[in-house]
This record gives sequence, structure tokens and C-alpha cells, in this order.
Amino acid sequence: MSEYKVGGKVIAIQDHSCGRFKKGKVYPILGLKSAPCCQMPLIDIGIPQTRSGMECTACGGFYGDNDQNMWFQRKAFVPLDQIESPQVTYTKIIEQLPVGAN
Ligand SMILES: [Zn+2]
Repeated sequence: MSEYKVGGKVIAIQDHSCGRFKKGKVYPILGLKSAPCCQMPLIDIGIPQTRSGMECTACGGFYGDNDQNMWFQRKAFVPLDQIESPQVTYTKIIEQLPVGAN
């Protein structure tokens, strides 16, 4: 199954609603944590925060006041080491996702 490791890389499997990351693009894993509000798994891919804190997309809670980078829902990304060969592209991964996953 998916393994997210700081220092590894992920590929986005969906576009961010505000364009912060793009489907099919590779990002470094700079940090991992759970949202303090509802334990939603989060990932830091090095996108700087433009305002203080973030609203949780899962429960509406507020977190990350003092963090430099934005936190995103981890499920929007797939670890790259999960891809066995370069021929297996991210489109394959997307095809395998259950319909309605977000
Ligand atoms: Zn939450």
C-alpha cells in the first residue's frame, strides 16, 4: 500500500481547487502530520502559505497558524515509490482509483 516518507516524492492525482498543485506533477514530501482537528492525514509539499493558518477541508477546523508551508489532504497524492516502472504512469493510478474518490 501507499507509503509516504519525508524525503520521498509524491505525484498529485487531482488538481487543487485553487491551483496550488496540479494533477500529474511530482512534489517532494517535506512533512507529514495529522490535522489536529480531526486527524485527517496531511502532507507538506513545499507550497508556502499565503495567509496564516488553514481551514480543514474535512471538518472545517482551523490549524497551521505557525507553519510556513501549506498542508494538503494526503489522499490527493500517491507516493512515487509505489510506481513500479516508469512505464506505469500516473494515469494508470488514476484509472485504478474508485470513482468519486477525492
Ligand atoms: Zn479537520
